[in-house]
Amino acid sequence: MFKLRANNEKLFILFFLFLALNMSIVNDVQAQKEGKIKTVVIDAGHGGKDPGAIGMKSKEKDITLSVAKKTGDYIKQNCPDVNVIYTRNGDVSVSLLRRAQIANEKNADLFISIHCNANASTQPCGVETFVMGEHRNAANLEVAKLENASILYEDNADEDYGSFNPNSPEAYIMLNFFQSEYKNASLEFAEHIQNQLVKRVGRKDRGVQQAGFLVLYKTAMPSVLIEIGFISNPNEEKFLRSEEGQTYIASAIFRAFRDYKVAYEKENASSDANADSDTDKLIDSDKDKVIYKVQIESRSRKVDVPSQHYKGLKNIDYYEHNGQYKYTAGKFYSKSEADEYCKKVKTSGYSSAFVVSFKNGKRL
Ligand SMILES: [Zn+2]
Repeated sequence: MFKLRANNEKLFILFFLFLALNMSIVNDVQAQKEGKIKTVVIDAGHGGKDPGAIGMKSKEKDITLSVAKKTGDYIKQNCPDVNVIYTRNGDVSVSLLRRAQIANEKNADLFISIHCNANASTQPCGVETFVMGEHRNAANLEVAKLENASILYEDNADEDYGSFNPNSPEAYIMLNFFQSEYKNASLEFAEHIQNQLVKRVGRKDRGVQQAGFLVLYKTAMPSVLIEIGFISNPNEEKFLRSEEGQTYIASAIFRAFRDYKVAYEKENASSDANADSDTDKLIDSDKDKVIYKVQIESRSRKVDVPSQHYKGLKNIDYYEHNGQYKYTAGKFYSKSEADEYCKKVKTSGYSSAFVVSFKNGKRL
């Protein structure tokens, strides 16, 4: 049915390929500055030729589609201002790349991919929500391998993913280079989801996790992949198959969406009221001097980020560039001081931080 890709690909070829793929993302983003969550893309995992994981009595692709539709229905009913878009509406094949493209083309504010977990043992159970990132343990890598194996069913995989071999641990080294500017927002949303599924629905908590998922890799907005339970565990499969179970899970995802939306829009509304008055002001004594700051992340919208969000970082500020809002920490008059501070910022979780310089309010 499919050919296995060779294992002995040269790492550097993949690396440059992935770098090239990465370049196209940010420029495609149309910054939406209204500060509202207006469009959500719900992605039912697998479909068509790709059944996903197979349980005793069900296939992952059927459960994910049903939960995706129920989740979308809840959002439509309760948040009429939100446009709900599905990557698939029926039992059809959609490539992982295409799913991300749909979200990008629709300028989605959130991307929710729904999946079922599986294990060779019938014992494991529980829910976990993934964001794109470096896997910290073998189990998380296994989940990513399982989900990325969908591309083995795709006709244009070579074209879409180069020589990426979903079963080769080496391929994931490349995904680890990926730094998403939406990572913090994705983590926040993932926390809301776990919170709802665990505290309100009573599922076993496997936590918010990170790994390299091709379906999340190209999305240009906060994105999560939810493993709503193990189809390989008979008890959990029964729950996942049931109308009641699916309703509970969908309502939990909806509530997490609503919580995230409310928090996001509140944060943003307060930003409109006061942000312009206290940022971007040039202090007279800084005139014609080169100022160094450490860039920590970039967002497609200006938000009034509470300082506690950036634990332990000082002088949080932002500047606008190509429709993106780049957030910075620290303020220095020498590059060496800024470099020193940048090291500290990196160790506090902003591993992609770097030093930027300004003169008279303009980035150099
Ligand atoms: Zn899946």
